[in-house]
Parts: sequence; C-alpha cells; structure tokens
Amino acid sequence: MQKYDIAVVGGGVAGLTAAIYAAKAGKQTIVIEKQDRLGGRAVSNKKKGAYFNLGGHALYHGDALATFRELGLSLQGNQPSIDGYGIWKGKLLTMPMSVKSLLTTPLLSWKGKMELASWLAKFGKLDTHRYDQISLREWIESNLHDPMVRNVFYALLRTASYVVAPDMQAAGPVLQQLQHSLQGVLYLDRGWGAIIDELREIAVKHGVRMLTSSKVVATEHRDGAVQHVRCEDGTLVEAKHIILTAPPAVAHQLVLNAEATALHAWREQAIEITAACLDVALRRLPKPKQQFVYGIDQTIFLSNQSRAAYLSDDGAQVISVIKYQGEKKNPDKDLQDLEQTLDLVQPGWRDELVAKQYLPHVTVCHDFLHMRRQHQPGPAVPEISGLYVAGEWASHGELLVDAATASAKRAIQCVLALEYSERKPENAHRNIV
Ligand SMILES: Cc1cc2nc3c(=O)[nH]c(=O)nc-3n(C[C@H](O)[C@H](O)[C@H](O)COP(=O)(O)OP(=O)(O)OC[C@H]3O[C@@H](n4cnc5c(N)ncnc54)[C@H](O)[C@@H]3O)c2cc1C
Repeated sequence: MQKYDIAVVGGGVAGLTAAIYAAKAGKQTIVIEKQDRLGGRAVSNKKKGAYFNLGGHALYHGDALATFRELGLSLQGNQPSIDGYGIWKGKLLTMPMSVKSLLTTPLLSWKGKMELASWLAKFGKLDTHRYDQISLREWIESNLHDPMVRNVFYALLRTASYVVAPDMQAAGPVLQQLQHSLQGVLYLDRGWGAIIDELREIAVKHGVRMLTSSKVVATEHRDGAVQHVRCEDGTLVEAKHIILTAPPAVAHQLVLNAEATALHAWREQAIEITAACLDVALRRLPKPKQQFVYGIDQTIFLSNQSRAAYLSDDGAQVISVIKYQGEKKNPDKDLQDLEQTLDLVQPGWRDELVAKQYLPHVTVCHDFLHMRRQHQPGPAVPEISGLYVAGEWASHGELLVDAATASAKRAIQCVLALEYSERKPENAHRNIV
C-alpha cells in the first residue's frame, strides 16, 4: 500500500497542472496514468521528422497560457497572422479580419462591411459574461443583421470552440474565446507535447511521483470519505484526496454508488464534441499564400501551423485540416471533405506529401457550458469528502485547455481550503483562496 496526500487520476494537462500546484503546496502527490506516456490529448507524435498534435492545436490568451507562464514554462513558438481566406460556395475568398481585408473582401456588401467594422472595433471590450445564459444563436440573431456578417461570426466562433451547436452553446464563453483569439494565438514549436514535457519536468522537480501504464479501476470510499485508488494490476494507493481528471463517464464508473452523487448529473448532462482531423507534412506548399482558411458554408478549418512554429526537422510544412462534426459523423465522407479542402487550398499536395495522420473521430471536449447544463461540474463531489473532478469538461465557462487548467486549480484550492478549515474549524466559513 502506497500513501499520498493527493492521488491524481489521469496525466493530461489537467492532471499535471493539479499535481504541480499540489506539490508546490507541500502535498505528497502521485499522478496515475493508464497510457504508457503522459499527456492525454495534448501529446504530439513524430512521423518522418514532422510533429503532429492530435489535430491542430492553438494556445489562446486564456487561463492555460497564464497558468503555464506562472509555472515557468518556456512555451517556444510564435503567433501566426490572422489574415486568411474563407470558403464560400466552393471558392476561396479573402476573410475580413483586418481593415485592409475588410475593404477588399468580396464576401460582404458595403452595408455588411460597415456592420462588421463596427463590431470588430467594439468587440474586444464586450462584457461577454452578460451572455452566459443565452444561446449563441440568440446572440447572433439579435445582435447581427447582415446575413453574411452572421455567417462570418458563425465560422469564427465555431473555430474558436469546435462546437457546431449554436442553439445549445452558451454565447458568453465562446464570445470570450473569440476575444482571446483576436488577440492572436500561439502555435508551439514541436507541438503541444512540448507543454507536457515541461509540465512533467516541473512536477518531478517538485517531487510528484508519476505512475504510467496503470489504469485506475476504482476509487474506494468509506463513511463518506475517500480511502484508496485501486489500479487494474492490483496496486492500491491510499490518499486523503483524489482528483479525477478522466472523462465524466469514466469518473462515474470509477466511483462506487456514483448514481447517488453529483457525478451522475454531470455525466447525464455532458455533451461530447468531436472532430475529424487530417494533418499532413508537405515538402513545400503548392500555393504559399493560402495557409489559413475558415469554412464559411462548411464546418471546416485549415491552418499551416508551420508558418509560426518549428514543426519539422527538415523544413516540411505541417498543415492541420479539421472537420467539426456536430451530430453528423461519417468517417469516409469526412476524410473526403478534408482532402477536398486540401485540393482547393493546396492543389497538388499529394505530390509533396511527406507524412500524414488521420483521426476520424477524436473527442475535443467531453462537455462545455451549454443551455441544458443544470450544474457546473466540480471541483468537489459534494457527497464524498476528499473527492474532486478536473479536466476540460469540468468547465465553469472556460473552453478547451483553459478549462483543464482552471478546473485543476479549483480542485487544489478546494483541497487546501478543506485542510485549512480542518486545522482551524473556527475558520471553516472563510474562503482562503
Ligand atoms: C482535435 C483537437 C483539437 C484541439 N484543439 C485545441 C486548441 O486549439 N486549443 C485548446 O485550448 N485546446 C484544444 N484541444 C483541447 C485540449 O487538447 C484538451 O482540452 C486538453 O488536452 C484536455 O486535457 P485534460 O487533462 O482535461 O484531458 P486528457 O488530455 O484527456 O487527460 C485525461 C487523462 O486521463 C487518463 N485516464 C483516463 N481514464 C483513466 C483511468 N481509468 N486510469 C488512469 N488514467 C486515466 C487518459 O489516458 C488521459 O491521459 C483540442 C483537442 C483535440 C482533440
């Protein structure tokens, strides 16, 4: 039996972030990961000298970037230009992202250009939280008038969140994500695996123990408080606090009598978001100017991430093409759509191909803030003392990796607050964070 203050189940961004903050607060911490390597969905795979993320990944100016900076990660990489194209009726047309492109784009009428210009001027200062309770569709339909301006916003907001459910998605968080993306995103040298390498190094430096290739099959509790984590190979880890960063359905499965806890509602309300992702490394770009493309009448996005980051050892260009799947999934048709997008944007790309990766159906997030959500998940599972959840799905309005880091920090704050109130019961009502 191994004994720890905190056992973290899952070694992705959320698990590693939680572990580092726990260790920095002086807690004996272990991370238990079922795969043979850490990273979860933030791993990068190297193929023929090219670094592929699990689909295109951009770091926004949100909680994750601030957290990584606070933890001292070096985050090598650059900000790509946001100038690009939109696909409309099978053609590539200038996307109105700056004053110059707004004036020249054939996508908008003069009236549409005026409306979009006025929105772009004030958008950065919009108080997005005012729109947390209404759907994205409602926000767009009541604030934007020109049909093409609406289409442009749908494309930008879909790209910022991966979600194709405007009637379901809460407007506030995705509008905030667009604000972040208009400040510029960061593409990382050697992909997001570099984040994981640095997080692991910092965690180990602070004394976190890493247990990989160990699948957790149960978390056990007695008299309303957590006791152990049980692994498939029989390893038992005793912990005063357990943080689950596995998906909501798995977290539910790991806890005995989860039906009687908040985990049940969190699993039931979750809406999973998936994408089909085609990444290619090309010796050279047939059309060097066409590197960044939003689908306007298609749920597609293309970006040459190499234009801002070191992603291959021999100068190959790494392009990510993503199809946002919504409820409709058809792996053959999705691949066809992704390849057709490459045919349109980089004709002749097959002749330049060095390596490729196709992920027909990858989970981008297990849940997010939507109109059917009854409860914000976590950080504490209220019915079982010492049990917490974190991970991108345990979002309180943050999106994607920002939700992973923010939820990890909430879980650790909760642990520390509980310990503080146990040491000083007279202060139990005080929030120490
Ligand atoms: C195609 C794609 C594109 C994306 N693009 C962006 C982007 O541009 N910007 C952005 O901010 N975010 C993006 N994301 C999201 C980002 O990758 C995730 O939000 C983040 O990596 C999630 O981290 P996590 O720790 O919450 O979950 P995960 O990375 O899924 O980590 C959970 C870990 O738990 C482990 N685990 C599960 N069950 C068990 C068990 N029983 N025992 C032990 N371990 C277990 C898993 O193996 C995994 O390692 C994208 C994701 C995808 C898939």
